[in-house]
Amino acid sequence: MRSLLNRFYKLYQFTNWDALCKPKSVGGLGFKNLVFFNKALLAKQISRLLSQPSCPLAKILKARYYPFSDILSAKIGPYPYARDLIADGILWRIGNGASLPRAGNNRVLVQNINPNWTTAKSEDMLVWKHEGTGEYSVKSEYRVLVAELLQNSNYTSSNRLFNNFLSHSCNLFQRTLRVEVNCPLCKAALEDSDHLLWSCGILQQIWASLQIKIAPDDCISSCKIRFVTTFSIADYQNRQLIAISIWALWYRRNNLSQENLGVSYRSLSTELWNPPVIGFIKINFDATFQIDSRTSTTTVLASDSEGEVVGAETYLFEDVVDAFVAEARAYERAILFAIKMGFRRLLVEGDSPSIIKKLKTKGEDRSILRPIIQHIRILENSFGNVSYLFVPRLVNAVAHSLALEGRKR
Ligand SMILES: [Zn+2]
Repeated sequence: MRSLLNRFYKLYQFTNWDALCKPKSVGGLGFKNLVFFNKALLAKQISRLLSQPSCPLAKILKARYYPFSDILSAKIGPYPYARDLIADGILWRIGNGASLPRAGNNRVLVQNINPNWTTAKSEDMLVWKHEGTGEYSVKSEYRVLVAELLQNSNYTSSNRLFNNFLSHSCNLFQRTLRVEVNCPLCKAALEDSDHLLWSCGILQQIWASLQIKIAPDDCISSCKIRFVTTFSIADYQNRQLIAISIWALWYRRNNLSQENLGVSYRSLSTELWNPPVIGFIKINFDATFQIDSRTSTTTVLASDSEGEVVGAETYLFEDVVDAFVAEARAYERAILFAIKMGFRRLLVEGDSPSIIKKLKTKGEDRSILRPIIQHIRILENSFGNVSYLFVPRLVNAVAHSLALEGRKR
């Protein structure tokens, strides 16, 4: 199972598995430690045997392994390790004192119990000390095991940036998940943990403007040591500023790299406006809708194969129901404009995918747009050739800004 998981997470794995299994609060990635998880699950079986002694499995095991005692004091028995875990985590909640184990029990130390201590007449009960409800839970035992491991291994608490667990460009490059290795913010150097933590020019500028006192450069210390020194000489408020600026930089950097991915993806397809082929006219248009006045403005631009604008118009519609209708009216207006101009072969580009879909589908339309769509279909008969193309708003920018301009006037 662990090797399967290892293979599955290989892409994300920047270090050994045990370090990744540490909780996020101490600089790990919080992956489940399956050995611990398995132990905690086995311990659940023991806790069931204790809390439900009359169930068939409990009876069989008792008859076989510990006929004269209980599972905690049995010399041999099932899941010995799990039994120890339970023994360490349970407490007696004293009720009437009747069911408490006798002194001499090798697992529970019972001294003289004074009956006057007991205030309730309820029964004595074994409770699980690591959970507020007193009931055993796998989660709580797992937590105990991880805490013990951290205590025993002298693991120094750190963060993901220090442990080099962040998915920055250098790490992604090593996993062949990215080709760009430069910092998306300053574009001046390799983006690795040291750069993000310390040397990024943008970060240095922010700290300079916040007047944070920076540890002197002694040419020997690494970026991490200089960071630690800077952090430890800072007062409480500056420490907060340092932490917040690193966080904000990482946030900004993630937004930037996502934007870049988006742009490079678009540039592969249709980022730029292209003129139509010879003999065709390209119509670009856009609509804006003002909900208060229920009006919409439509701008239509016509260009030829040279890229020259051969006609443009702006219309104002009144009593428009919603933005969807405004878009459909804009398509209708664009076709009417092309008829008026006497164009014969058209390529119509708009940024409303749902209306283009409706125009391309020849079936029955049940929406409120049906009269407009039907009218456009009739108008299409005036042309030798009409085709519709969806373009992102970025490409339709000229028509979009003209429509916005038209709204102001
Ligand atoms: Zn940088």
